[in-house]
Amino acid sequence: MQGSLRHATKRAAARSVVRLPAARRGTALASPWSETMLSPLLYRTLHATGLTALVRHLRSAGVFLCYHNVVFPTGAVQTGDRGVHIPVDRFRDQMRWLVSHYDVIPVSEFLDRLAARKATRRMASVTFDDAYTGVFEHAWPVLHELRISATVFVIATAPGRRERFWWDRLAVQRAQSDRAREQWLTALRGDEAAILGSLPAVADEKPAAAAYLPADWEVIARAVGAGLDLGVHSATHRSLPTLDDAELTYEIETSREIIARHTGVTPEVFAFPYGRWDGRVRRRVKQAGYRAALTLDYGLVSPDADPWALPRVNVPAGIPDSAYRAWAAGLSLRHVWRT
Ligand SMILES: [Zn+2]
Repeated sequence: MQGSLRHATKRAAARSVVRLPAARRGTALASPWSETMLSPLLYRTLHATGLTALVRHLRSAGVFLCYHNVVFPTGAVQTGDRGVHIPVDRFRDQMRWLVSHYDVIPVSEFLDRLAARKATRRMASVTFDDAYTGVFEHAWPVLHELRISATVFVIATAPGRRERFWWDRLAVQRAQSDRAREQWLTALRGDEAAILGSLPAVADEKPAAAAYLPADWEVIARAVGAGLDLGVHSATHRSLPTLDDAELTYEIETSREIIARHTGVTPEVFAFPYGRWDGRVRRRVKQAGYRAALTLDYGLVSPDADPWALPRVNVPAGIPDSAYRAWAAGLSLRHVWRT
């Protein structure tokens, strides 16, 4: 990089001039997959000029990464939400890069640092939403090998079911659009039966491979025994701001009791389904005694962050390396499909 450009770049990074749109608070941007890889050229340029690395060094905030499923690439196109199921090879590459550029610490340790107002610069924590079987089959060995601790957020009524989640169903894939998704998460409340009931049935959907289904309790409990941390991801994965008070009690409190009964562990951290939250939902999670709650609002976590509405960086399955590194450093153009 030339001297003048280097100085200009440093000034830009120091002033956080690289202004990218802030996440809309508590509202999922329903971007179709094709839009999520906006400007790969820009990310490659950021990387090539050293700006991504520079920002990573200068930013005073850490990052919570959010994954969903990790699968073995079979070569065949699998059904399911394309943004959600990341091939294990790509996941392993990302984790190797992460441990060599960040201090990867457990969520609980990150929260300890926030409580003590300690610096979070270049700290990272790894989280998984929905507790897919693939996480235990494919991600866990990678995490174990690299000595990364992680938190898996469990939907309390999902373990043991033998059907795909609604967002992985073919009928949903075929009906997918920004408008449809907004309708599913508001008028239909993110409720699986209501959403699938509103769509034409697809008769020829093949059974899902095990990795694409929720893990059962035995698998989850075994991983907990080996050091995996658990969080609560509601009871039924409905959109919490659309629910009444009694329904919120079930989703926020009963869910935790169910998970404790099956695993012997009472989780202390909550993750909002679809990343959707509002002031009432945040208050209920806090009142229920959780230590913290994680959103899918894009952003890094600084020492003064609100523990009950912490931002995360959602990692879509097909993200190129340059974009992954930029997003982790706080440079993102768009936000993505959330589950
Ligand atoms: Zn989810």
